[in-house]
Amino acid sequence: MTEILKGAEVVEAINARVIAQVEGLRAAGIAPTLAILRVGERADDISYERGAIKRAEKLGVSVLSAVLPESVSQDELLARIEFLNADNAIHGVLLFRPLPAHIDEEAVRNSLAPGKDIDGIGDFSLAGVFTGSSLGFAPCTAQACLEILDHFGYELKGKRAIVVGRSLVVGKPVAMMLLERHATVTIAHSRTKDLAARCREADLVIACVGRAKLIDGDYLRAGQTVIDVGINVTAEGLLVGDVDFEAALGIVDAITPVPGGVGTVTTSVLINHVTQAASRGRV
Ligand code: NAP
Repeated sequence: MTEILKGAEVVEAINARVIAQVEGLRAAGIAPTLAILRVGERADDISYERGAIKRAEKLGVSVLSAVLPESVSQDELLARIEFLNADNAIHGVLLFRPLPAHIDEEAVRNSLAPGKDIDGIGDFSLAGVFTGSSLGFAPCTAQACLEILDHFGYELKGKRAIVVGRSLVVGKPVAMMLLERHATVTIAHSRTKDLAARCREADLVIACVGRAKLIDGDYLRAGQTVIDVGINVTAEGLLVGDVDFEAALGIVDAITPVPGGVGTVTTSVLINHVTQAASRGRV
């Protein structure tokens, strides 16, 4: 019988931690505050923003949102980030990407103050993920994968893990976080040969590919735990993961659903990073 690793349970546990932190901060006269900076009107950004605002408000974290037009200049965007960096009332900044093509994304993501980089987009934060130190913050989605595994008591030490996908947002950081926790990690990508065989060798499969249901029954075997990071919309308008969930049921030991898995945990991790940033600023 396959266990469904539901995000809701993990969210509840993270939210309880956040609420305790918020109480402590507010008692000390600090109102933890998230600034959201969005460029343009991409539907998935708007949907994530809506979810983040709802979750933040529920947990007592204030949110300030700003929307800049697609045509915003690089200088204007950098000036806006500089303003947020300097504002002591803002503890974390969420900047949606990808940015429009005329913007130098590397310059922008590295302009964010590391202490406010709550989604781990800057090189300073990513270096912290690689060195295992707590410089900046880990990218929220990568952190959400670890939160789920920890919540359900998955012991990583000595396990063979495969991460399918090598983006800076998810694949690379989650692979380093698994390594830090003593898993033996393979990072697979679009040029990996015999991907199905490589996946079957692993005890833990983290799918962050962005290809609907790519990981089907041929890639899976009994005894595995599967974390499906993918968020894909099918031609029929259905939200599905990178793993064929129905095919995985009855084969693997445990799997996260889509929706209701990694995505919902990511939002709580984001808010938790804001309260952590506010707490760090206090000492
Ligand atoms: P991305 O930047 O497009 O990276 C996709 C990765 O998958 C790349 O490394 C690519 O390899 C690899 N890949 C693509 N096709 C492949 C194939 N056929 N076989 C093996 N590897 C393949 O995507 P991302 O930003 O990491 O996002 C991945 C997925 O996670 C998407 O579905 C996205 O919507 C979802 N996501 C979810 C959350 C959440 O909170 N749940 C957050 C962020 C992203 P190459 O490097 O060789 O091109």
